[in-house]
Amino acid sequence: MLELQGVCRHYPGAAQLAVNQISLQLQGTETLVLLGPSGCGKSTLLKLVAGLERPDQGRVCWQGQDLAEVPAEQRQFAMVFQDYALFPHLSVVNNVAFAPTVQKTDARQRTERVDHWMQRLQLEALAGRPVWTLSGGQQQRVAVARALAAAPRLLLLDEPFSNLDESLRGELQAMLREVLCEAAIPCLLVTHDQREAFQLGDRIALIRQGRLIHCAPAHQLYHQP
Ligand code: ADP
Ligand code: ADP
Repeated sequence: MLELQGVCRHYPGAAQLAVNQISLQLQGTETLVLLGPSGCGKSTLLKLVAGLERPDQGRVCWQGQDLAEVPAEQRQFAMVFQDYALFPHLSVVNNVAFAPTVQKTDARQRTERVDHWMQRLQLEALAGRPVWTLSGGQQQRVAVARALAAAPRLLLLDEPFSNLDESLRGELQAMLREVLCEAAIPCLLVTHDQREAFQLGDRIALIRQGRLIHCAPAHQLYHQP
């Protein structure tokens, strides 16, 4: 279980806290969506969980352990970025196989895992292509497959579809919903898109100016059309 306890982040020189006293828990295999306008602190919050930023106050805990002393690469959390952040010169399959290779997963398990997520994200036909030759939507499918192939304890997604056009976004949201359900891991997803939040979130946390203003199961929140 992930738990944030009164977490604050103040960037040097900034007038306001980017993240202001946020406490929340992520339980079981739920997807919690952090929803709020640009600049409200969502990405910073995700980076604090990922270990790419450090809190100035408060704690980020996993199964009760304070993560302050656990570097990003040892947290076993996988992150998917808005701009995909793939290894551009590597092929699709080598991107997906990257984490299990680095983790020295045994060969059979590695092949199984890589094949599985390649298939689930419909990447098989693209396996040998260098990722720089792919479209945005294809690259984002590679990024999701690569993250899941790492068999992470927690998946972090930062505005994963905001660079894609409307129809493609809908398609990938539906695909992500299915694979998250199947992967059965907890997921923290950041978006400014209300429809995306309702489509993917089991619970939704509303963030404004660094503060958590409300957190509730999606079905208890009013979805403004
Ligand atoms: P969001 O993801 O909701 O758009 P961010 O977490 O990126 O919000 O940013 C929250 C606030 O912190 C914004 O005011 C932003 O300008 C500021 N900020 C983000 N990253 C940095 C940084 N590295 N240095 C200074 N200020 C930052
Ligand atoms: P997003 O809103 O998607 O997080 P931004 O454009 O706010 O994207 O930020 C892009 C990058 O720039 C992030 O790595 C963020 O930390 C950094 N950044 C954002 N605002 C500032 C700022 N005021 N000063 C320095 N870096 C910033």
